[in-house]
Amino acid sequence: MPTRLIIGAGVSAAVFLNTSSDGYKTVVVGEDGLWAKLVEHPMGQPAHLLHLPGSPPPSFTVANGEMSLDNFLSSGVFQQGVSEIVKGSRYGHNPSRKVRRISKSLTQPGNYVAWFDTSHALIVEKIVIATGIGAQRKPPKITGTPAPGIDYSQVIEGIEFLEDEEQHVPNIDRAIYGGSATAAWVVDIASKYSPKMNWFARPGGSEFTGAVLPGARNAKIIKLCETHNLQLLKEVTEVEYVGERLHIHVKDEDFCYIADQFIYSLGGDDNPTVTDHIYQVMDPDIRDDLSPILDASGALGTQYKSVLALGTSDNGVMIVGAATYNFTAMTVNPTSGKAVPTKKKPAPMAHLPWNAQVPDGIAVVVASISALNHYIPIKQRLTLNYQNTYQEYAITENNTNINLADANQLAVLFTLMFDELSANQINDLVIRTIMARSRKTKGSTEVFGLSKRDFYNLIKSRISFISDTSIDERCSLAGLKLS
Ligand SMILES: Cc1cc2nc3c(=O)[nH]c(=O)nc-3n(C[C@H](O)[C@H](O)[C@H](O)COP(=O)(O)OP(=O)(O)OC[C@H]3O[C@@H](n4cnc5c(N)ncnc54)[C@H](O)[C@@H]3O)c2cc1C
Repeated sequence: MPTRLIIGAGVSAAVFLNTSSDGYKTVVVGEDGLWAKLVEHPMGQPAHLLHLPGSPPPSFTVANGEMSLDNFLSSGVFQQGVSEIVKGSRYGHNPSRKVRRISKSLTQPGNYVAWFDTSHALIVEKIVIATGIGAQRKPPKITGTPAPGIDYSQVIEGIEFLEDEEQHVPNIDRAIYGGSATAAWVVDIASKYSPKMNWFARPGGSEFTGAVLPGARNAKIIKLCETHNLQLLKEVTEVEYVGERLHIHVKDEDFCYIADQFIYSLGGDDNPTVTDHIYQVMDPDIRDDLSPILDASGALGTQYKSVLALGTSDNGVMIVGAATYNFTAMTVNPTSGKAVPTKKKPAPMAHLPWNAQVPDGIAVVVASISALNHYIPIKQRLTLNYQNTYQEYAITENNTNINLADANQLAVLFTLMFDELSANQINDLVIRTIMARSRKTKGSTEVFGLSKRDFYNLIKSRISFISDTSIDERCSLAGLKLS
């Protein structure tokens, strides 16, 4: 059996493992993904939007981030699901092994080599790169010298701060830089331990708008910072160590802010020249051969429009999941003649519930990799009789998640449920379901998708005289459990 290697052991790897069925033996290398390292915390969405393929979809839960975080999925529960899937496919015993180079095999033409160091490598038929968003963007200019004897990092990147509880030192003043959802999480934790805190975002960038996503989870912390005038639209130009403290210089001001710890959370560094960027890990003949794998069947939008992954011409090396939407390569600008990074590919997410429309978020990972692998979350048992014709069919599993399913998955589901409808009517129901679940009314339950009640009402608006009981029966016949 040919072997496929997945580099990375996070959400993208888990989704790829559970949605591919093309006869490859698939193994995984790399440490557990982001969620295994973070302190347990409510995630940005309720469980039905963080559903991993291959398991029954959780019931629709309407989370209200302003009042309570109870219905948001806990990161520990989510990670358990990822680890369960990945653990059965790990290659070797050392999960911290990193792939340092990917090349074409000279001894086995057509195959690829993943190098752990200059003398240890794995030769495989296919490589799937699922390495996530990669390195984080660097901080602004740092000057001066840290004072000795301080037992926390005075300047630290946001994810490192979240990962390391020893950094949550009480009674020190903090400054947080960046306006994303991750920065809001940092602010949430920092606010518990800091007598004084400032939250900066660069004016003219995404400002604090990124912090609003995902969903209303961050509303409480944003409100707290607004009420206490802790939010500042300033561009930090320099962080200076002065004695045991930090002076934070901002653009166009002749004064500075003072803090003990500066935490920056500025998103993934998409500059391909950064060391460790996956662009640097691939040999030039591989990376120059990469092009977008388009959504040929229109699973996530107009046919051939969305990018599901990147792949070499033989699809021997592919980049999938969050790594796809943060990948840039170097190209030559025709006017200036200078080498510049290419633009990032936009993530196909407009068909997802508004709360899940995060370009490198889990719902996008699930939807894009499922569509790439033409995954249909329904299994059936077919029994042949002695004349080799089908004697019996039974649906043995139906894990379709109405809120994350792509157009093909919904079309199969509706065809099973409503065999009296024409192909056009099925398509109409698919499109209406997608549109209804991706409404954007802020502050409403709609941002989390379509509830069972909404879904039933939608079906009733398209199929005359169908009752709730009859829809229940159709769901049951198709093996779909909705709650
Ligand atoms: C703080 C934070 C909060 C977030 N909150 C949410 C949220 O609430 N909801 C949501 O939908 N999304 C959220 N996201 C985004 C979400 O975490 C990502 O969508 C998801 O982790 C992407 O999964 P991935 O498998 O592609 O990458 P990752 O989870 O980052 O996994 C990448 C894997 O690749 C491995 N790796 C990297 N390079 C190499 C190499 N050279 N060799 C071997 N292995 C390698 C890493 O060790 C890791 O195992 C959040 C992101 C951050 C940073």
